[in-house]
This record gives sequence, C-alpha cells and structure tokens, in this order.
Amino acid sequence: MKPTHIEHIGIAVKNLEEAIPFYEEVFGLKCYAVEEVADQKVKTAFFKVGDTKIELLESTDPDGPIGKFIDKKGEGVHHLAFAVDKLDEKLKKAEEKGIRLIDKQPRKGAEGLNIGFLHPKSTFGVLTELCEDPNK
Ligand code: ZN
Repeated sequence: MKPTHIEHIGIAVKNLEEAIPFYEEVFGLKCYAVEEVADQKVKTAFFKVGDTKIELLESTDPDGPIGKFIDKKGEGVHHLAFAVDKLDEKLKKAEEKGIRLIDKQPRKGAEGLNIGFLHPKSTFGVLTELCEDPNK
C-alpha cells in the first residue's frame, strides 16, 4: 500500500459559513476552494496545511452520507485520506488482503482526484479514503 502522505482529513460540519472563519481566523489558513460534489451530496471547503489538506464537508441533503453521519454522531472527523499512486491496483490488493471496500473501482472525487473508500469495519473504525492525483 505505502501511501506517500496524508492527502486530507475530512471533517463533517453543519455549516461551512460558520466553520470556514474558524480555520481562517484562528489558524490563519486560507480557504482556497469551495466545491460541490453532487455525487456525494456535499459541499466541500479546502485548506492546505503543508502537504495535507483539511476538507470540510457540509451536507446538501439530509439523506446523503454526511447528513446521516452528523445526524448520528454530530460534527467531527469523518474520514482520513491517504495519497497513493496506481489506485486501481491498490484497491485490488486491499481486497485480496480481505479488506472490505466501499469502492471496488476508483471514482471521481473533489479536486479532480480519483478516490476509493475502504469500509470502516475493516479499518478499525476509521473511514479511509485512498486518493490518486491523475495529473501526477
Ligand atoms: Zn475526502
């Protein structure tokens, strides 16, 4: 597997307009992108911290994955994303090792990355995303 770095940490928030100023004013980070990912029923906001990003996730639909997550657990850390290369190969290898996959094939995520999720039942409770930058 051997990821190159932590690509981002996904944090579920109720309201981007309230969460963005916290990161900007308290940490002095700049929100450099806000993007809606219709597929996942979320609006995302990104901050860079070194090589790693913070991805804030606001639900656009109470029945979407983030809407359900906040309903059950409240706001907080939602997932951890590792940067890998050859994502399709990595997903196959994980499956061969008995890891339960949410995505058997890479799909498009925010920021033009190819992504695939591993099921938290196989990753000690941490929803884990693998990301590949197709432009690298
Ligand atoms: Zn993510």
